[in-house]
Amino acid sequence: MSEEKIPYKIYLSEAEIPKQWYNMRADMKNKPAPLLNPGTLQPLKPEELAPIFCEELIAQELNDTDAYIDIPEEIQAYYKTYRPSPTMRAYHLEKALGTPAKIYYKFEGNNTSGSHKLNSAIAQAYYAKKQGLKGVTTETGAGQWGTALSMACAYFGLDCKVYMVKVSYEQKPFRREVMRTYGASVTPSPSMETAVGRKILEQHPGTTGSLGCAISEAVEVATTNEGYRYVLGSVLNQVLLHQSVIGLEAKAALDKYGIKPDIIIGCAGGGSNLGGLIAPFMGEKLRGEADYRIIAVEPASCPSFTRGKFAYDFCDTGMICPLAKMYTLGSGFIPSANHAGGLRFHGMSTILSQLYHDGYMEACSVEQTSVFEAAEQFARTEGILPAPESSHAIRTAIDEALKCKETGEEKTILFGLTGTGYFDMVAYEKFHDGEMTDVIPTDEDLQAGFDGIPKFPGNEF
Ligand SMILES: *Cc1c(COP(=O)(O)O)cnc(C)c1O
Repeated sequence: MSEEKIPYKIYLSEAEIPKQWYNMRADMKNKPAPLLNPGTLQPLKPEELAPIFCEELIAQELNDTDAYIDIPEEIQAYYKTYRPSPTMRAYHLEKALGTPAKIYYKFEGNNTSGSHKLNSAIAQAYYAKKQGLKGVTTETGAGQWGTALSMACAYFGLDCKVYMVKVSYEQKPFRREVMRTYGASVTPSPSMETAVGRKILEQHPGTTGSLGCAISEAVEVATTNEGYRYVLGSVLNQVLLHQSVIGLEAKAALDKYGIKPDIIIGCAGGGSNLGGLIAPFMGEKLRGEADYRIIAVEPASCPSFTRGKFAYDFCDTGMICPLAKMYTLGSGFIPSANHAGGLRFHGMSTILSQLYHDGYMEACSVEQTSVFEAAEQFARTEGILPAPESSHAIRTAIDEALKCKETGEEKTILFGLTGTGYFDMVAYEKFHDGEMTDVIPTDEDLQAGFDGIPKFPGNEF
């Protein structure tokens, strides 16, 4: 197919929205390690997870065998309101860079929540409603997940209680109002409303919070209120499963023009957008049908893959959640308060952790000022104002395209543009005013986090 025929936006039709999610675990030889009960150190049984999570979502969480799982009609109907999302060719950015590389991006910011998180929020809210629950609790960091879940709960008529990391709650008052518009209640975390919040505040007075703290609070509220369950917007296997719609659509769009990416790049916080984007490509790689270079990009201030340990650890600061085997900085790790770019979770999806450990993907870390430089260059050329999280992937896509400029290679790059940055203008302001700095944790800082990883036979790291 000749170059000129590839449009700026490759749209699929409504009928081409995936009707099944793809579960990478089915094709993994080494399955991700099971969640453990922190008391007994034995793999968690579905009945032990039932007080925390919805039943159907537990089944998805533990399903390592079914490659395809049907998307219920009700969820498909909601997907049709904002999907398929476009796969874009970054012609303007390529020209500005003077690169022979061909750059594509899958844009997930075209919905009111402004990110890919709605893909899983609507699924999780659906299963909670189907189980007859009153409502769900959750945490939110930058606010995208809380917003997506609020929208999904409004749609299905569920109550929604959001614990929002305090630093974001203060920096992003408009996020809070969007969530309240959709009917959610929003509490800054750590709060005095929960036992775990009071304990964290006692130990760390004046803390600006972390996702790990907010998770502990949301889980406590879910397990102590009748008719409530906890839902999580990243990290979990079920979330990567739901996010596979991103990759399935991107692959279908590229296949239409016979395009095969050489390099696939995504930012990694808990791993859900990256896990979703790479899913069908990784499936081919796992089955030996094709090869792709896959790169996870993380902030240098929260470097789980590149400097973390592969070990069983708690997913939350309060240490009340199950243990997951993942690349982790320790559940007590809290990134520097001047880190503005999201992706601040201490751990990583167990699926991606296993794939990284087995050499199926690479990881790199980037500093936040260089991330905002890339964000600005992207905004000025492609027009879209990117979320800081997404801009980590932009940074690395630009770097890879510039390498092609040096070598003259015409590589095809696909990256995930996970969302828009309208609520991140305080961070952009800091960048513009020259007040943004790059704080990279020292080995000693990281060691303090590693010291908090539980020690037991078989968990050497
Ligand atoms: C939440 C979020 C991320 C990071 O989460 P993952 O689970 O790693 O995908 C990235 N980009 C945006 C816009 C987000 O809202």
